[in-house]
Amino acid sequence: MKRPHSHNYFMKAVSLMPGGVNSPVRAFKAVGDDPIVVTRAKGDRLYDADGNRYIDYCMSWGPMVLGHGNVRVSNAIRKAVRGGTSFGALCPYEIRLAELIVQSYQSIELVRMVSSGTEAAMSAVRVARAYTKRDKVVKFEGGYHGHADQFLIKAGSGLTTLGAPSSPGVPEAFASTTLTLPYNDLDALKKLIAERWREIAALIVEPVAGNMGVVVPDPGFLETLRDLTTRHGIILVFDEVITGLRLSPSGAQGVFGVIPDMTILGKIIGGGMPVGAYGGRKETMGLVSPEGAVYQAGTLSGNPVAMAAGIATIKEIQSNSEFYKELGKKTEHLVSGLKDAARLAGRAVTINSIGSMFTPFFTDRPVKDLTTAMASDTKLYAGFFHRMFERGVYLPPSQFEAHFMSIAHSSHDIDRTIKHAYEAFKKV
Ligand SMILES: *Cc1c(COP(=O)(O)O)cnc(C)c1O
Repeated sequence: MKRPHSHNYFMKAVSLMPGGVNSPVRAFKAVGDDPIVVTRAKGDRLYDADGNRYIDYCMSWGPMVLGHGNVRVSNAIRKAVRGGTSFGALCPYEIRLAELIVQSYQSIELVRMVSSGTEAAMSAVRVARAYTKRDKVVKFEGGYHGHADQFLIKAGSGLTTLGAPSSPGVPEAFASTTLTLPYNDLDALKKLIAERWREIAALIVEPVAGNMGVVVPDPGFLETLRDLTTRHGIILVFDEVITGLRLSPSGAQGVFGVIPDMTILGKIIGGGMPVGAYGGRKETMGLVSPEGAVYQAGTLSGNPVAMAAGIATIKEIQSNSEFYKELGKKTEHLVSGLKDAARLAGRAVTINSIGSMFTPFFTDRPVKDLTTAMASDTKLYAGFFHRMFERGVYLPPSQFEAHFMSIAHSSHDIDRTIKHAYEAFKKV
């Protein structure tokens, strides 16, 4: 497909920004080709610099659960902007969003707003370390918690791996404070906790994994995490940056009924503006400065425009009592259509899905952790991505990402997606 304007933009971008982008996966490295250059988005559609139209299943990597350009959210942003864009002082918007979050999450009594999920994750772990007076953090292979040094740890083989940095620039000393485990592996978890609990401040987990593609927790996995961390005084941190407000008003913890000690939020709570948040009970969050001594600050934290977008997003979701049911139905419709299309096209695909998130893995085996996710054929995914892109369907440009549905996806567009997927599965 010829995209001359996009090509020109990208060439210029490459001369000005590393890899031409401000976040790596956007560059299409995993699938080849020039990346999409978006000039406009509305509902479930993206429009590129060449005037092509795409049905979007990336949805800004998760935040746009209402679709692009939701009227209520756009109006709230406009109204906030008229009152000034940043005060560097307490404002009513942040109190309102904090109240909505505290009302929704049983695990959150106090919340601190920040500007990204990365900041929220690193700050929550700082609090957990201060509270427990321990240094180590446990994370799962394939789990993403933003790009702070301590979370950029390569998943290793064997039961547990003392972290080796997976990025240059991360000192060994930082990496060695992080322990990694395979997702959904209770034996490895029990062994590690039994041996090393005295050193472990926090265990951080995506309660539904979204950053190795969608991987759902096995029955009992989250419950066992809760049980073991409680018994050993380890702070259980749920990273609900994706799942918060996506799976339910109270995220994955609301769906699975497992309540963590601390919760990290982002993406949807900013309604498409830059936001993150972390919260927990008063005994932990009370340690955060200026109430306590754990320092964490932000010039644009609690920004009125971002807060207004988040509030409007939550209000819009709350105004439809069938919101999550409708969203789930749309996703089931698409996923069952994709499964049929793959079967009819004779293509082995495993589709993991829950709520409004899903990933088609090009493998005939179940995907339950990073190892099984990595067994999928990324060349086939890249081919599928391109065949869909040519047909006007924009999927995340990497096998190891969650695909997102929004409430703005029409059944007409979902049916078209299924039809295109059948052709695409046949041609990859
Ligand atoms: C996106 C994401 C983050 C990081 O959020 P940013 O706002 O990109 O810094 C953290 N955790 C999870 C689970 C995410 O999906």
